[in-house]
Amino acid sequence: MNRYTQRIASRIAVAVACTVAMNAAFSATSDETPAAAPAVDLATLLRIRDAALASDFAYLRLAELTDRIGPRLSGSPGAAAAVDLVADDLRNIGLHVTLQPVKVPHWVRGAETAELVDYPGRPAGLTQRLTLTALGGSGATPADGLTARLVVVHGMDELNARAAEVKGGIVVFDVPFNQQLADNGRSGNAYGEAGLYRFIGPATAAKMGAVAALVRSVGGANFRIAHTGMTAWGKDVQHIPAAALTAEDAMLIDRLSAKGPVSMRLTLTPQTLPDADSSNVLGDLPGSDQSGEMVLVSGHLDSWDLAQGATDDGTGVMAAMGVAEVLHRLGLTPHRGVRVVAWMNEENGQRGAKAYFDALHDKLATQFAAIESDGGAGHPLGILTSVVPEDAKSLDALKTVLRSLDAPIIDRRDRLGSGDLSLLEDAGVPSFEPFVDTRSYFNYHHTAADTLDKVDPQELKRQVALLAVLTWYLAEMPQGLKRLPQAVPAS
Ligand SMILES: [Zn+2]
Repeated sequence: MNRYTQRIASRIAVAVACTVAMNAAFSATSDETPAAAPAVDLATLLRIRDAALASDFAYLRLAELTDRIGPRLSGSPGAAAAVDLVADDLRNIGLHVTLQPVKVPHWVRGAETAELVDYPGRPAGLTQRLTLTALGGSGATPADGLTARLVVVHGMDELNARAAEVKGGIVVFDVPFNQQLADNGRSGNAYGEAGLYRFIGPATAAKMGAVAALVRSVGGANFRIAHTGMTAWGKDVQHIPAAALTAEDAMLIDRLSAKGPVSMRLTLTPQTLPDADSSNVLGDLPGSDQSGEMVLVSGHLDSWDLAQGATDDGTGVMAAMGVAEVLHRLGLTPHRGVRVVAWMNEENGQRGAKAYFDALHDKLATQFAAIESDGGAGHPLGILTSVVPEDAKSLDALKTVLRSLDAPIIDRRDRLGSGDLSLLEDAGVPSFEPFVDTRSYFNYHHTAADTLDKVDPQELKRQVALLAVLTWYLAEMPQGLKRLPQAVPAS
């Protein structure tokens, strides 16, 4: 860890030193920026970058959020305390703070145990205890559990082919997380591929008559840690008990079931309580422009209940807050306003994003661009954006500063689909994310191990610097950005 941190520190030193030379190039001719390209003042961008790199603010506030409050699942006392903490912090920075009401789902974890009570070759009287954790939205078994045979499948086709076996059984989806994809910078694809079974597997099994459904944990490190996460139930689908097994236990079940019938005793006693009152936290740094246009910079405040949610998504909230802290500390007034948003309920409902979108009414045009950080605090590589292709060029001038942060990539896609920005993006708002190294992000994602020690303070500083220069650039760029093609007809 120390050696890694030192390497990063020395890379920053080199990058900052290189910037001096690049500044000269930028102000002289700069072949990267067309002569006609309107400039966002480079000296100001560099001041912002340096102020962010020199500040511990985001990390110190993250430590407060994680160590003093900890888990923040929607509806929990932790989530309420986190709303207060972030609102106070944003006020202390000097922003105008609004708590936007959001009704959130209130699901509470209960007991969760599982043991294999019968399998081929089982010595008399012996059972095997497994490690698992309920999925968000899971239904409950009877208080003393249920016992059923397992139906182990490796994909949806196999489930469909064996549909006749499902009724009365516990379906186990043994689909591994593809770490090779993650190692090649495609962790999102890896998450999507294996995560599909977590998202829709239990509901699919329920419709076929399964009494419970288990998925192999969606994550990259096999330290016998279970990864929770949301599972989706369609309309009129019975909420059967649903949980994630550790990868090791899914593999054990797979080996045993290849030899013959396997039965499990399963106890899961979560509860779904009435919806609870909560809030998005909005902090506004007004712009000098009277049009009301603003740039959103955001992360989500809720987390899963198993751990501190340090990387998912304490990092995003505190990095967004760090942006406002730097701009305000430097006494900068942006052209467009800057709004920090700490979203509520990204993990199990995205009701915060919906409440924000619905409250905009006829003010959608004020949302100039939106940024969300929700990929952890890995090494920043650049930015991801969904600006229309013809607007990609207008971000080129930002590259000089991104290069100085060792994060030169501007990767344009038609849609980012960031958790809390999707509604805005689908309605035409250009979206941005920090592009960070997520090769190990899914090792701890949604587990009991997502704790503060997983965040490298130096990388968090670099993320704040990246987001701060991006935010300022978007708030200042004179030429504007085109709206994205709408994914759904405007209502
Ligand atoms: Zn997240």
